[in-house]
Amino acid sequence: MVLKKPLFFLLHLLAARQIADQSAPEWDYRDTNRWIADYPTCGGAQQSPINLDHYNSVGSLKPALKFRNYAQPLAGRLTLVNNGHTADIMLPETIRGPRPTITGGLLNGIYEAQSVHFHWGSPGGGRGSEHTVNGYRYDVEVHIVHKNMIYGNVQEAMQRPDGLAVLAIMINIADFPQSFYPGLNRVFNTLPRVRAAETNATINSQLSLNHFLGDVDTRNFFAYRGSLTTPPCSEAVTWHVFPRPLLVSRDLIANFFELRQKNGASLWNNFRPLQALNRRVVYRRKGGN
Ligand SMILES: [Zn+2]
Repeated sequence: MVLKKPLFFLLHLLAARQIADQSAPEWDYRDTNRWIADYPTCGGAQQSPINLDHYNSVGSLKPALKFRNYAQPLAGRLTLVNNGHTADIMLPETIRGPRPTITGGLLNGIYEAQSVHFHWGSPGGGRGSEHTVNGYRYDVEVHIVHKNMIYGNVQEAMQRPDGLAVLAIMINIADFPQSFYPGLNRVFNTLPRVRAAETNATINSQLSLNHFLGDVDTRNFFAYRGSLTTPPCSEAVTWHVFPRPLLVSRDLIANFFELRQKNGASLWNNFRPLQALNRRVVYRRKGGN
C-alpha cells in the first residue's frame, strides 16, 4: 500500500508527538521546586517570574512598544484548550495574512504572536498573577507569547536567548467594573466548556489581538530578560509587564476556578513562585508615546 503524502505526513506528526510526550515528564504546581529534577534549566540564574520594584528598576528605557496587525481580525474562530496547566489559545494568522507583531521596548527585531494563556488563583480571594509589583499580587495574569521572526518555530526559538517575547497583562476582580472587554468576556464565557483537562471549545466571536490588551496602558511597562514560567523554564524570554490592571467582574474570573487538571483535581493557583533577580536589570518605561 502506498500512503498518500498528506496521510504519511500526519502519521509522522502523530509519531513525533507520542515520542515527545514520553520524553516530557509530567509536572504540576504542588511543588514547583521539584521541577528542577526533570528540567534543570528551572534552576537557572535568569528565571521568571520576579517581583518588579519601582525602586530597583532603571527608569531609562525610552523606546515604546509598537504593535502591528493587533487590530486586524484573526482568521477563523479561535480554539480554547484546557491543557491541564492553563487555558491556552493558539493564534492563527490575521485575515490579511500576516501575524500580529511587536517591536520596540527592550526588543531587537520583530516578534510575531503565537498564543495566549492565563494564570489565576483560587476561590475565596487567592490571587494568581505570576509577576508582582512592589510585592503586590494581582488576581489574574494574561500572557501573549511571541516568537522572534528569525527563528522557524517556537521549539527552535526556546533554545535562543532572544527567541521569545511575552506581554503580561494584569487583571483584578472588581465588583462593579466600569469597563467592558467584549473579547476577554467571550474567552471567559467559554471557560465552562473546557472544564475537563484535554478538552477544547471554539470561541464564537471574531477577535483581534487588541481584544486581549483591552485598554491597558501599553506606554507604561517593566521589561527584563527571563524565562518561561513553566517547564522547561527556557531562559529565552524578554518580558514586558504592564502594571496597570484591567478590572473584570468576579463572576467572569470565577469561571477559571472550574477548570481541572489531568488527574481531575481543581486547576487552582497555576502560578510559579517568585524567582531571584540575581544580577539582572529591570527596566521601567513610564508614559510618553
Ligand atoms: Zn504564562
